[in-house]
Amino acid sequence: MADEKDILIKKILDLKKQKDAIILAHNYQIDDIQDIADFLGDSLELAKKSMNLKENTIVFCGVRFMAETAKILSPHKKVLLPVLDAGCPLADMISPDELIKLKNKHPDAMVVSYVNTSAQIKALSDVCCTSANAVEVVKNVPSKRIIFTPDKNLGWWVKKNVPEKELIIWPGYCLVHERFTKKEAEDAKRLHPDAEVIVHPECQAQILEMADFVASTSGMLKRAKESDAKNFIIGTEAGMIYRLKKENPDKTFYSLGSAKMCVNMKKITLKNLLRSLENDRYCIELEPEIIAGAKKSLEEMIKYV
Ligand code: 13P
Ligand code: SF4
Repeated sequence: MADEKDILIKKILDLKKQKDAIILAHNYQIDDIQDIADFLGDSLELAKKSMNLKENTIVFCGVRFMAETAKILSPHKKVLLPVLDAGCPLADMISPDELIKLKNKHPDAMVVSYVNTSAQIKALSDVCCTSANAVEVVKNVPSKRIIFTPDKNLGWWVKKNVPEKELIIWPGYCLVHERFTKKEAEDAKRLHPDAEVIVHPECQAQILEMADFVASTSGMLKRAKESDAKNFIIGTEAGMIYRLKKENPDKTFYSLGSAKMCVNMKKITLKNLLRSLENDRYCIELEPEIIAGAKKSLEEMIKYV
């Protein structure tokens, strides 16, 4: 007899077909969502995937800024986020007023904003970037002075790799990645001395300095596949380990210290995904002028990579 989960999965798949929908999911989603998604990726892959889709509806299993990005790049599609309050605290760490003030203070600087920002911040920026392309974007932006928002750790990583640019870095941070400590990194290395250490650039600078490899979530997956190492210490949100293990069954992945969870990424479940498809909720709506401004900075980013 089919259990509750099988029934939910069947209903989701039937409704998805009926409603001409596609399910896009971020690498941090819970295992069940990763398994049912049509496409799984990091922020850059998801943004690119959301352009030129044939389906009319995108159900976005991730956090709000990711669903907004899909809406900005495909404004004529219906974009659904199954949970209304699946936000990203990092994205809320800079307000439009704060960015306007900073731009007025540094009128000669171009603004590069991490994709983990609101649509309003994107509209006030010259170019967006993700963790996968921030170094390349900053290297190529035609300005020596750059206002970089809102993540100080990614900003530090970019500055280290592009020393020729002058960066004015906003002091935001991810509450999840900030919790990885130097002590945890040292202990993990001592415990698994042959393991390759791969961390996300939202980790603190002292962690980035100790890593063998710094990458976006999908960059981690690529590295794990290509590397000759058999063991890996992973410094990012816990959901990533599920995909790493699933796609590399012959390799072993350890969390750098205790597992760190992004509560917002974990809010989406099979149940609320089904409700989302049944009731067309929660539909992402943005002002046309915000879409136009934010689209420019996202498209500018896609030009660089
Ligand atoms: P990625 O673009 O590397 O998937 O990162 C998104 C994110 O929110 C990391 O915390
Ligand atoms: Fe935002 Fe951090 Fe969660 Fe990523 S892990 S969505 S940056 S709070």
